[in-house]
Amino acid sequence: MRNYIERKRVLVTGGAGFLGSHLIDRLLERGDEVICADNLFTGSKRNLEHLRSHPRFEFLRHDITFPLYVEVDLIYNLACPASPIHYRHDPVQTTKTSVHGAINMLGLAKRLGARIFQASTSEVYGDPSVHPQTEDYWGNVNPVGTRSCYDEGKRCAETLFFDYHRQHGLDIRVARIFNTYGPRMHPNDGRVVSNFIMQALQGQDITLYGNGEQTRSFCYIDDLVDGVLRFMDTPSGEDGAPGFPGPINLGNPDELTIGQLAEQVIRLTNSSSKLVFRPLPPDDPIRRRPDIARAREHLGWEPKVTLEEGLRRTIAYFEQCRVGYAHHA
Ligand code: NAD
Ligand code: UDP
Ligand code: UDP
Repeated sequence: MRNYIERKRVLVTGGAGFLGSHLIDRLLERGDEVICADNLFTGSKRNLEHLRSHPRFEFLRHDITFPLYVEVDLIYNLACPASPIHYRHDPVQTTKTSVHGAINMLGLAKRLGARIFQASTSEVYGDPSVHPQTEDYWGNVNPVGTRSCYDEGKRCAETLFFDYHRQHGLDIRVARIFNTYGPRMHPNDGRVVSNFIMQALQGQDITLYGNGEQTRSFCYIDDLVDGVLRFMDTPSGEDGAPGFPGPINLGNPDELTIGQLAEQVIRLTNSSSKLVFRPLPPDDPIRRRPDIARAREHLGWEPKVTLEEGLRRTIAYFEQCRVGYAHHA
């Protein structure tokens, strides 16, 4: 536990969401002071309920497309709707969150001389023609499709981060996060892991989009947060020069088809659900797997939790939520 001299004041934007709330738990556990700025668009106060009276935690209801003046040492910029149904709901606001939000958080970091982390995404690679994806691949992204508000917004945010780094000497850390899952995922956000588990637990049909042959690689939340913290903790350069800015892929390189994921979920939940096929959404990437050589080299990091173990923990969480909802109904 850090003492009051080592203790950092940390801003986490999007901290009421899935990734952000787990990150905040870890920061508080190690003794930091945390301010969470979130407009609660997709996040929930329920994710932070257990911290309500925590002496080192503060919640601000704030939309990062507007300026923010706080005094902190470190900034983690996670605010952005992440699931396709959420980011398509108001695509203009999604791009504004990535772009105006990045400008505001970078302006804040510049004023304070604070190190700043950006939660970028594997979506910057689009429907990739290079497999597995290395950080030097520039991507294959449709600029005018229904995923573009998210993909191009995140790409522009990366551009802004690297330009503030080059132009103003900001100490930036840009991570490209691949599909992550675990407790506190929103049960209705349409993402594949939450959809399949909810469908399996309720005995509903499991909806496979396309033929289910498309692949993803799923990282358990604890592993992901560990990678994020290691990256942010890597020291700055000599004489206070910025440290390694990235981009760095963070994800689990174990690739499987969505059909195989459905079978695993059915097996682990002992469900009698049947598979049904639905149309593949536009621009849905066919293959995705991170090359994590850079994360291994710079952070000494790789995921440890197997898909089976991670799914078991996530299923237990969703089961508990269902009991909770039933009590409140
Ligand atoms: P999430 O939807 O659970 O969390 C996002 C949070 O941002 C929510 O609490 C939401 O209310 C908040 N938010 C959205 N717009 C905001 C705004 N304008 N101002 C303030 N707060 C705002 O999603 P998540 O899965 O926790 O994702 C967190 C970050 O990680 C996102 O930036 C996402 O793009 C990135 N990411 C996630 C994954 C994944 O698999 N979960 C993969 C790649 C990248
Ligand atoms: N900003 C902020 N908090 C701060 C400092 C800046 O939200 O503590 C915002 C402010 O809205 C500004 C943006 O960050 O427009 C970019 O700041 P920068 O200093 O890069 O640019 P400028 O102020 O010259 O537009
Ligand atoms: N998917 C699916 N059934 C669902 C939800 C998603 O087959 O009920 C597919 C989706 O088409 C995609 C993959 O699962 O190929 C991962 O989808 P998700 O929305 O979780 O993440 P992303 O497409 O952003 O990787």
